[in-house]
Amino acid sequence: MKTYAINQQLCDRSPGCKVKKECPSNAIVQMDGDYYIDMLACRRCGLCVKTCPHGAVGESAS
Ligand code: SF4
Repeated sequence: MKTYAINQQLCDRSPGCKVKKECPSNAIVQMDGDYYIDMLACRRCGLCVKTCPHGAVGESAS
């Protein structure tokens, strides 16, 4: 099963995060300024990997 994670080194923590707006599952959550992906909500569509302008979302198989 694929999992998705945000690389905190690449993420710019923009308040207007495009990935957060476009995720169809509303799975991008923000805690203490950092963005995370809630894998319980995520439907594993992969849209975030293509959408992030900083290439901060990574996909891996688990
Ligand atoms: S894989 Fe799809 S559902 Fe999961 S966080 Fe990315 S955009 Fe949202």
